[in-house]
Amino acid sequence: MSDPAVAALLELVTPLVNRRVGPYNGWNPVTRTQIWQWCMAMGDENPLYLDDDYRAANTDFTGAVAPPTMMQMWTMRAVNGDHGPGSTRQNPYEILAIMEQHGFAGVMAVSYDQTFHRYLQEGDQVHHYSTIIKISDLKTTGVGKGFFVTEKAEYMDQNNEVFAEALITYFQYQTPPKQPGAKKAAAPGKINRVHPVENQDTAHFWQGLRDGKLLIQRCTSCNTLRHPPQPMCEKCQSLQWDCIESTGQGSVYTFTVMHYPEIPPFDYPNTIVLVDLQEGVRIVSQLIDTKPGDVHIGMPVAMQIKEVQDGMSLPLFRPVQK
Ligand code: ZN
Repeated sequence: MSDPAVAALLELVTPLVNRRVGPYNGWNPVTRTQIWQWCMAMGDENPLYLDDDYRAANTDFTGAVAPPTMMQMWTMRAVNGDHGPGSTRQNPYEILAIMEQHGFAGVMAVSYDQTFHRYLQEGDQVHHYSTIIKISDLKTTGVGKGFFVTEKAEYMDQNNEVFAEALITYFQYQTPPKQPGAKKAAAPGKINRVHPVENQDTAHFWQGLRDGKLLIQRCTSCNTLRHPPQPMCEKCQSLQWDCIESTGQGSVYTFTVMHYPEIPPFDYPNTIVLVDLQEGVRIVSQLIDTKPGDVHIGMPVAMQIKEVQDGMSLPLFRPVQK
């Protein structure tokens, strides 16, 4: 895309920046049933949420308390696409729609920062507002050229007090143009995988893979193994750790097969597995050398570390031949 085209696009979307859209109302007040369903699904046993005796003895809360991370759920749309009664019909993502019409049709979530100001309790009624607060200049990344777009979502209670906020950044990127008359879009050019974040807490893991080893963190205070890499032991809160090398043997704990949308550079169907490693931790990976219909829960698998592109080695898994 030439610079004048980018300038024309920015001229269309820039006036929409900082336009606050809403309200988007929840269908139902905060209820114990939904809190229970969430806690069960997440395996969250914090007694603050549903244990009335615990709350009475230790807190000033009078009813069930919602886990803060449920924030986004309270104002989700119904299956027909509508928000709760009294909501605006305005599309909060008009900017993204315009970008899509101009060839930037790929969207990737980049970051999601949440701030929680207070807990919600049974009976609270939630609505939210959405504002696109920032569009970057045109950037070039591993998936192509595009714009980083940041949305601010404000979650409010029935008194219009903000109880939580979120800053969500998307990368809206250029997809290959459709060829006139062609049944299928042109094959995309070579697109690289996005390199995972490699920082102080994860560098050992990625370096281990480049050295041909899958390293699992071990707490040196209580010997608990953990994956993915994190700075603190969730069992004893120790910050001291070392690593063991995994054998790469395991079995499929669960899996999903991605058919659509086809996002380069992956091959489709793409079988994504959660592997129970012999050592006792789980790892998300890709299953290779098998047809999607052949994968099943409990299937024995073995790891193969593969350099998928320069400087990026990944632990992939394949079925163990019996
Ligand atoms: Zn520990």
